[in-house]
Amino acid sequence: MSAPSHPALRDFLLDGTAPLVIKIGSSLMIGEDGAPRRQWMSDLARQLAGRPGPILAVSSGAIALGRSALGIADRPASLAEAQAAAAVGQIRLAGIWSEAWADCGRTAAQVLLSLDDLENRGRYLNARNTIETLLARGVVPIINENDTVATGEIRFGDNDRLGARVALLAGADLLLLLSDVDGLFDADPRKVPDAKLIPEVPVIDAGVEARAGAAEATGFGTGGMVSKLAAARIATSGGCPVLLADGSGDAEPIARFCETGTGTCFHAAEKPLVRRKQWLRSLQHSAGTLHLDAGAVAALDRGASLLASGIRRVDGDFRRGDLVELRGSRGTVGQGLCGYDAVDAARIIGRHSSEFEALLGYAGRGPVVHRDDLILFEC
Ligand code: GLU
Repeated sequence: MSAPSHPALRDFLLDGTAPLVIKIGSSLMIGEDGAPRRQWMSDLARQLAGRPGPILAVSSGAIALGRSALGIADRPASLAEAQAAAAVGQIRLAGIWSEAWADCGRTAAQVLLSLDDLENRGRYLNARNTIETLLARGVVPIINENDTVATGEIRFGDNDRLGARVALLAGADLLLLLSDVDGLFDADPRKVPDAKLIPEVPVIDAGVEARAGAAEATGFGTGGMVSKLAAARIATSGGCPVLLADGSGDAEPIARFCETGTGTCFHAAEKPLVRRKQWLRSLQHSAGTLHLDAGAVAALDRGASLLASGIRRVDGDFRRGDLVELRGSRGTVGQGLCGYDAVDAARIIGRHSSEFEALLGYAGRGPVVHRDDLILFEC
């Protein structure tokens, strides 16, 4: 990686006092023989054990480890089989990390999160308190999705996004995505031999998104380049830079990055979102859609709340306080927490708030989505 970020990143990784989140992909955790890469994990723990600031690891590999323990050769055929593999693999994964950190004098803790733990504001704050308490005691949280119980649409889907959300929750100053690629390239390096690595990404724009489009999922994990970019978008918009670097091979990846500087650094947004807005931005599971007219979209752009008069249609079955997608004529413009349930929202759309009492039987609150409860995606 070219100056200026490389020396600063090296100092942060080894000597930083702010939290560092490392996301480790499944393909890094398992060797070609299907066994866990214990030496690699120990080397990584040893490299970081003396770092003064907090360290959090989002570690994949439960399903892959469980698969090899159960002798399931390919990706598990059914959800139940994948969840059974995760149950077997997670206990091993946590055990290996726990030993690796204990050997360097650090205590590790297992934290399994479900999507709801971060989507629901009360549970999110609870998870944050627990993690902050662990960090204050010098413990290294080893985090994974609670794969044994999470199903279908209530999943994070991949640990890249989970890593980004953990980075914001912990107030991290860097999210390190360790993968089996050197970084983001200007073309797919598996197909285009002279594809060039992009060392710095100041802003994730449409061009950057297009470059990521070519990447596919690797054999074990679920996250290709598209999910890495989604993660980078969440983290950087909250003020946390992201470093994507290679962790494959036997070399300890942090020492390797410090020596070679090979990787892609996504810069943090210049004006990061405040914490509540970061949380709103990171929510993944919307229960419905509000279709807005052009006037409402323009008003949101100016920082206004969403009024019923600018909504043309309501889709979905949601309760008051649920997350809804905000859609204009050109697609999704943002998301927010709806002040009305789906039935009441449908009753008042296109109408002025002075009519609400007659329509609903109660006065209601003014906006359908208050500006403090919504986020626009350009942010
Ligand atoms: N949570 C999954 C596991 O531990 C991995 C998901 C991912 O790699 O993105 O197997």
